[in-house]
Amino acid sequence: MRPGPSVVRAPIEARVTMLGTGTSHGIPMIGCNCATCRSTDPRDRRLRPSIYIDVPDRLRMLIDTATDLRQQVLRHEITRVDAVLYTHAHADHILGLDDLRSFNALQGSPIPCYANREAWDAIRRQFSYVFEGPLQTGGGVPQVTANEIFGTFFVRGVKVVPVPLMHGKLPILGFRVGNFAYQTDCNRIPDESWDLVDGVDILVLDALRDEPHETHFTVAEALEVVQRISPMRTYLTHMTHDLPHAKTNARLPESVELAYDGLVFDIEVVAS
Ligand SMILES: [Zn+2]
Ligand SMILES: [Zn+2]
Ligand SMILES: [Zn+2]
Repeated sequence: MRPGPSVVRAPIEARVTMLGTGTSHGIPMIGCNCATCRSTDPRDRRLRPSIYIDVPDRLRMLIDTATDLRQQVLRHEITRVDAVLYTHAHADHILGLDDLRSFNALQGSPIPCYANREAWDAIRRQFSYVFEGPLQTGGGVPQVTANEIFGTFFVRGVKVVPVPLMHGKLPILGFRVGNFAYQTDCNRIPDESWDLVDGVDILVLDALRDEPHETHFTVAEALEVVQRISPMRTYLTHMTHDLPHAKTNARLPESVELAYDGLVFDIEVVAS
């Protein structure tokens, strides 16, 4: 039987910080005067999507390097990145890659990055100066090692289960880390992936807006997924300005809420 929401699970082994919970434009959108973009609620200000997982004394890991990565790591005083997992190579998820230079300098070593083949093909094209070598050194280039994901793998002993998802026609990856799954940028979960997220306690799931979209779940579609996976807690992410924080939360089921930039929650990871 699954534990109820009141059960406190110990020990707490890892902490997730939602660095960015907005769609690709970010909220406020440039030049928009809608109520969400003008809102004074800090939860309505959404940077582009990245998250940070801190497994104390073992692993500090990003999922995606969002366009706003520099601002995000400064805000949260992040000074170490041991690895990066990429969900896919859309601009909002990869364009902060150049800022990994700062962590190279701090740590004195390349950063292992993990992605599927489709994402690596696109990242290598977008960042040819990183992978083909620059004309001149200038301000330096990020030092990363490219690891292709084929199935479950371990990063510094922490188990990571890639969860194949469909983002329109693009096959992308969600990630399960222990009792937590991160599934951004998707509008369909393939049959073979449901078992991979069976029993997760905390789910972060794409919910772009209420209007249908060809590559993202709507709120209603996300809630259907939540019903099937049945986690203790679900945080919706990658929202447009069509979903004001407080108003949207008021109509969601009790176990579901919108994520917001700076949201922190604890997870349990599986470590070897
Ligand atoms: Zn995105
Ligand atoms: Zn707006
Ligand atoms: Zn995308």
